Amino acid sequence: MVLLSVENRKEMNALRVLVVGAGVGGVSIARGLLRDGHDVTVFEQRPDTRPGGGAVTIWPSGSMVLEQLAVDMDGAGQLLSTVRIATSTGRPLINIAVDTIVDRLGGPVRMVPRRVLLDRLLDGFPADHIRCNSRVAAAFNTPGGVRVQFDDGSCADGDLLIGADGLHSMVRRIVGGAPAKSTGWCSWQGLSTVDHIAEKDVAVQIIGEHGNLGLWPAGGSDLQWWFDLRWSPDFVRPDRPIDAIRSSFAGWSELVDQVLATLTDDDLAASPFPHFRHPIPRLRRSGAMTLLGDAAHAMPPALAQGANQALLDTMVLRKALADLRGNDELASALRWYEKTRRRRLTVLSWVTSRQISQSQSVLKWVALISDSFGTWVMTAFLRWLSQRRISVSAVLCASSCRFAALADLLVELGIAALQREHGQRCPLVFPFDDPLWSWCSRNAVRARRPDA
Ligand SMILES: Cc1cc2nc3c(=O)[nH]c(=O)nc-3n(C[C@H](O)[C@H](O)[C@H](O)COP(=O)(O)OP(=O)(O)OC[C@H]3O[C@@H](n4cnc5c(N)ncnc54)[C@H](O)[C@@H]3O)c2cc1C
Repeated sequence: MVLLSVENRKEMNALRVLVVGAGVGGVSIARGLLRDGHDVTVFEQRPDTRPGGGAVTIWPSGSMVLEQLAVDMDGAGQLLSTVRIATSTGRPLINIAVDTIVDRLGGPVRMVPRRVLLDRLLDGFPADHIRCNSRVAAAFNTPGGVRVQFDDGSCADGDLLIGADGLHSMVRRIVGGAPAKSTGWCSWQGLSTVDHIAEKDVAVQIIGEHGNLGLWPAGGSDLQWWFDLRWSPDFVRPDRPIDAIRSSFAGWSELVDQVLATLTDDDLAASPFPHFRHPIPRLRRSGAMTLLGDAAHAMPPALAQGANQALLDTMVLRKALADLRGNDELASALRWYEKTRRRRLTVLSWVTSRQISQSQSVLKWVALISDSFGTWVMTAFLRWLSQRRISVSAVLCASSCRFAALADLLVELGIAALQREHGQRCPLVFPFDDPLWSWCSRNAVRARRPDA
């Protein structure tokens, strides 16, 4: 990973950045800001960075951000070609053609174990920039920037604080974000080795009246499974949860029965995971503090967007800081980042909070939607979520922002030219062999260089 010298950092207004949380969001923003020449330290409450959890989905926009961060994802997890949605009675509903989405948006769709994703993000990451066993207990804006205080009473000072501390974020509480609300559902979920997965590139989702489930291959023999059922705060965990899961979902399909036969109560030990939704906060008075990932916008896992949206936050926040002309503009750059993300996240959070489980009489109408229309809607939605304009200038973003406006103008011109040529099929990751696009992007990069 490229790190700048102290002299270079001074020249380009390098910030001392404190990141709380070493999950996907915290490590990706730290990696990006280190690449941009800032001085970043990540504080993690756990004793090590060894990650847990099941698998997460990376959509084309997330793949593109990983590319911008120079994360090598070759061979990680499982590339998907189709999401097959059916009812619990076996009626096919929609086949989402993931191949078509990949073709249109220009990046792979990948199911990857969270531990593999974090290992790849941490590959080449300087270990001395992560401090484990460091639970942040409080944070303050100070006249010179920000200060965090740890459990043991010690403190660290910086110019900027990024709260990437997940669903029950402490930084979120400090900046005045409302707490997450339960949606009334939960997932019993895990990642298991299942022999003989017939179609390794096909993700299966099945919807019933009182619950729904997903079986998404995650590379090799790994299968991410989840069973969603109702949940409330007074929920009492059954002694033998596997019996409850089997009685709700047995007979839904051959593959479901095969998976249920292999699962035990031990596989369900960490479950259930209640679904929460955050109101997306407006952080008007949070000074040099901001939020990223689940800390800003935890949402139900319905569209498998948690890790992907944390990566998009990373891209937009990097862009906000790259355009910074002096530390006195920091607060407005952070408010720009939050505002840029808010509209899309508000819509996404609303969509993912809709109830999936429906009666057969409702689902029979859903079955009338053609596969191509379902795929088109999904593609359009993912394209809208992807913050495409920013993604392109982020690709081009060098460490300095001199002539940034000219660079942005050239990027806009390049996009307009590509859109005229490719229309709807204009990809997310742009073809660098297109002559006009190459000319615009080359000059945009030059305009952003300090010596341009
Ligand atoms: C253990 C675990 C398992 C998961 N499993 C899945 C899964 O199977 N499928 C899926 O789709 N998503 C899963 N997720 C969620 C998914 O990783 C996130 O939705 C997405 O990656 C966004 O991550 P994030 O970095 O914003 O938050 P998170 O991944 O939640 O990371 C937050 C980090 O902040 C640390 N932290 C919290 N408070 C403090 C504090 N006060 N001081 C210092 N550090 C702090 C936490 O220990 C954690 O490492 C899991 C998350 C976790 C933490």
